[in-house]
Amino acid sequence: MGLPSCRPYNSLPVAWATMQADAVDTKMMDLALQQAREGLAQGGVPVGAVLAANGQVLGAGHNQRVQQGDAVAHGEISALRDAGRRPDYAGTTMYTTLSPCQMCSGAILLFQIPRVVVGEAETFAGDLDFLRGRGVEVVLLDDSRCQDVMREFQERYPEVWSEDIGGRQFR
Ligand SMILES: [Zn+2]
Repeated sequence: MGLPSCRPYNSLPVAWATMQADAVDTKMMDLALQQAREGLAQGGVPVGAVLAANGQVLGAGHNQRVQQGDAVAHGEISALRDAGRRPDYAGTTMYTTLSPCQMCSGAILLFQIPRVVVGEAETFAGDLDFLRGRGVEVVLLDDSRCQDVMREFQERYPEVWSEDIGGRQFR
């Protein structure tokens, strides 16, 4: 639609970023959301994630902080763990219902995951420009279903949220 191709991706408006999502992205985010809802049903932090490539799920998971007593088992880490060892992550996309925290952003960069699709960045902003600045393609869906599951959790379990990344954002 005549958008200038020379414009840096990270300066594009959100509306344009949203247009980058396709049917596979929608399906994968639905799976990530299903993971998040499972987490909420277990009384856990409802962040779900899926690692996928070529329309195939490589790994999926949700935050297991409460369920496993594991402070570092964030949604994205659980999905990476589920995917197991890989020689490389070329062509993969990380789908996560919530904007990645610093730890998960670090994992995305460490494994050189080239693309991240984020459900929402309202209940926790994370730092999407950090990822974009490191060359990661970031698509923000602004999915109200992802916001709803986090808001419900934040209201029901504020102390658990505070233990996890909820307690980090004001420091
Ligand atoms: Zn994280």
